[in-house]
Amino acid sequence: MVQFSDIPVVRHVGYIEVNTAFQNDVSPLKVDLIYGTFKSEDGSNYILPVVKRAENMVVNDTLSHDYLSPAGIESFSKLACRLLLGDIENLWNDGKVFGIQSIGGTGALKIGAEFLAQHMNCTTVYYPDPSWEMHGSIFSFSGFQKKIQYRYMNRETIEIDFEGFCEDISNASVDSVVILHACGHNPSGLDLSKEQWRTVAEIMKERKLIPFFDIAYQGIASGDIEEDTWAVRHFHSEGIEFLCAQSFSKMFTIYNERVGNLMIVQKSGHNIESLKIHFERIIRSIYSSPPNHGARTILQILSNPKLYDEWSSSFKAIAARIIELRKALRKALEEEVAFKKWNHITDQKGMFIFLNLTDSQVEYLRNFHHIYMINCGRVNVSGLNFTNISYVAKAINDTLR
Ligand code: PLP
Repeated sequence: MVQFSDIPVVRHVGYIEVNTAFQNDVSPLKVDLIYGTFKSEDGSNYILPVVKRAENMVVNDTLSHDYLSPAGIESFSKLACRLLLGDIENLWNDGKVFGIQSIGGTGALKIGAEFLAQHMNCTTVYYPDPSWEMHGSIFSFSGFQKKIQYRYMNRETIEIDFEGFCEDISNASVDSVVILHACGHNPSGLDLSKEQWRTVAEIMKERKLIPFFDIAYQGIASGDIEEDTWAVRHFHSEGIEFLCAQSFSKMFTIYNERVGNLMIVQKSGHNIESLKIHFERIIRSIYSSPPNHGARTILQILSNPKLYDEWSSSFKAIAARIIELRKALRKALEEEVAFKKWNHITDQKGMFIFLNLTDSQVEYLRNFHHIYMINCGRVNVSGLNFTNISYVAKAINDTLR
């Protein structure tokens, strides 16, 4: 019989390891560029004021601790799907679009992966190289036997390798699932052009692949919540069936409330009730039903025109601040490290700057300069501020010399 003490020793890798080291570092110089969360100029965590107000309304007016149904609050999911596709009234009524409230974007990916493995006999998932670190493990924990990373970024030029991307998905077998970052690609900050999205949609249709969008940065990439859904809307207009995992963590600065939605778009809606039951069974067997507070807060904002306007217009300021910080870091690096090109810092979009450092360079920054980022040199832009940018640029110079 296996004893607990027989279990092989492992250690944290990735975010958790880096974050633990950051928390244990007592240096006053330390800089946190790890997680994709918004920070104010003084480095403290930022919460959108409209979210605080909506939370108070929920607590005062509507808070109930009854169980939600496994699929969560339907009116929340409907408004979440509307954020992605615009007017969905008829599609929703016909069962061609539906949503399932999830535990963050991670939960949406997880229940989607379980559904694809159990009911669509999918065994292969394609996801970009590089990608958000959890994509591979979510799908292998759900029984996918093959995880294949398609070429996405050329590491020499820090540009999209579009030819490689198309070649790799053109070779995928029928019914492979392909994860697509809808906007603000994590970690590269490189998004496809509309023309490139059109080509990808064509290939996916022709090869009979199953698109699984992941959207965690809607509004944050371009500053406009509609513009950032262009790819999702294009696939819909092409009549393609797909899934889309939505994370509300960053869009509402509500990370630990764990709010997300899984949107399913299908050609015919005749079997909608039974599809929902399949999802509910999956959810019952993992966590039974989702939490209430965060989703109610978001529902409050999405269903109240005044709060909605305030929330949706906040992305302009967020995107503008990100652009300002990108420009400042590029300028500081061009001054400090003139032998390298830094244009990619302002060419990339969204929350992350991809510095393309080696693991040992990232470790050096951590050990000698108390600057913390995940391997590959992915920087959370909003962890930078006008006090620490010059320190970070000097440390990068020291590291690259
Ligand atoms: N997908 C991507 C691309 C992400 O970057 C993240 C979080 O960083 C997620 C999904 C997970 O989102 P959540 O925190 O809502 O689970």
